[in-house]
Amino acid sequence: MDPDVRDKAWEELRARVAGCRRCGLCQTRTNTVFGQGSVDTPLVFVGEGPGADEDTSGLAFVGKAGQLLTKILSAGGIERESVFICNVVKCRPPGNRTPSQEEMLMCGGFLEAQLLLLRPRIVVCLGNTPLKWLLKTTEGITALRGRWFDWRGIQLFPMFHPSYLLRNDSRAKGSPKDLTWQDVQQLKARLDEIGKGE
Ligand code: SF4
Repeated sequence: MDPDVRDKAWEELRARVAGCRRCGLCQTRTNTVFGQGSVDTPLVFVGEGPGADEDTSGLAFVGKAGQLLTKILSAGGIERESVFICNVVKCRPPGNRTPSQEEMLMCGGFLEAQLLLLRPRIVVCLGNTPLKWLLKTTEGITALRGRWFDWRGIQLFPMFHPSYLLRNDSRAKGSPKDLTWQDVQQLKARLDEIGKGE
């Protein structure tokens, strides 16, 4: 796609999200959270929805879970500024509950449009919600993490959500943190292959 056309479509999409009142989450949000980072990236991360810090700032993954994600990426040799990070729903579900099917149906088209405009090589689903939404699977993150799938020609890689890692602090072999460390190394290796022209 012509970069100018893409950029124009991207800004129109951003404006549509900012003014969106398609589902009930608009009533309790402070800000919509479109997502942020590089738009010329091979790698996009998708989480569930904004939390309190994200709702206040209008930015994705800036709270404790986001800080942990930044650390995990950095340890794996991936700069956070070089990727794009967003969520399935763009407004905070009250009390950080999981978004309802109806809310995801209303909002999911924005994520889809973002992915089709960015056309990254890899989409990482953080946790169950984006995994189940994009893959239309009933299998959970524990079964599918660390494996590669296809979403419309884009490689899809599920990893644990960092908020799950905050609740499961063990670093023992086979623990969620240990598995995530393995996953981020696998992710970096695939990124390097892409960088070399695969
Ligand atoms: S969650 Fe999505 S669909 Fe619902 S109001 Fe916010 S932007 Fe619109």
